[in-house]
Amino acid sequence: MSALQLQSVSKHFGGVLAVDQVSLSLRQGEIHGLIGPNGSGKTTLLNLLSGYYPLSGGSITLDGDDLSAKTVQQRAYAGISRTFQKPRLLGSMSTLDNAMLGCWKDSQSNMLQIGAFTPKARREESRLRSRAEEILHGIGLGAIIDEPARLLDHAEQRFLEIARGLCMQPRFILLDEPAGGLTETEIERLADIVVAMRDAGLGVLIVEHHTDFVFRVSNRVTALNLGKQIASGSPQAVRADAEVIRVYLGA
Ligand code: ADP
Repeated sequence: MSALQLQSVSKHFGGVLAVDQVSLSLRQGEIHGLIGPNGSGKTTLLNLLSGYYPLSGGSITLDGDDLSAKTVQQRAYAGISRTFQKPRLLGSMSTLDNAMLGCWKDSQSNMLQIGAFTPKARREESRLRSRAEEILHGIGLGAIIDEPARLLDHAEQRFLEIARGLCMQPRFILLDEPAGGLTETEIERLADIVVAMRDAGLGVLIVEHHTDFVFRVSNRVTALNLGKQIASGSPQAVRADAEVIRVYLGA
């Protein structure tokens, strides 16, 4: 099984040290929760992992290959997919077409561009369409594949964002606050989805404020405060950690 490794990763924005020498590993077949108060560096860490920000220090490797200087696209090719805090969907496009945007790295002929009408492009589109449909059915959006994304409710948009990430057929998926704005029932559904992804062999990193959800689904949890890693280990150990309780969970 592959492992994505962060070693002493740091990021500063001018004088702000947003992430301060954090080391963690994300393995395939594992859910790793990343928690911490506002401003503790969680989203910055996710942006460093996915390649949206360059590192100020440390390294990121995948099975020993250094990804630190690789672009977002190169990391996507290496098998790293992500979602955003605010779903980034194209409102006038259907659920299915939004999901298919996640298939871009398998598209040989730029089939999403107007003019791709060769038989090869049509076969390719059909193959990717089937993949996207299967993923949407698996995630519970099968009944609304033709709906324009703007008509989807908040939870459906969040699940579509995950479906699009899965269409890339990643080895690792990084979820930025996937439970944000969801009801308890929808969080149950989200829990089933992330556990199914883990059981299918993906490495799942969850950046999340909803600590009950994180502690319930994660195999391992890392807690940050002011950019520093204050605890890492089993959900039980991190939940009981005195520093985590002091700065985040409250006594
Ligand atoms: P979290 O996701 O845990 O709420 P962030 O990673 O968003 O924390 O932020 C960590 C720190 O880095 C905060 O002090 C924040 O203000 C700062 N920060 C984040 N992104 C930027 C940026 N693009 N420019 C300047 N400072 C930033």
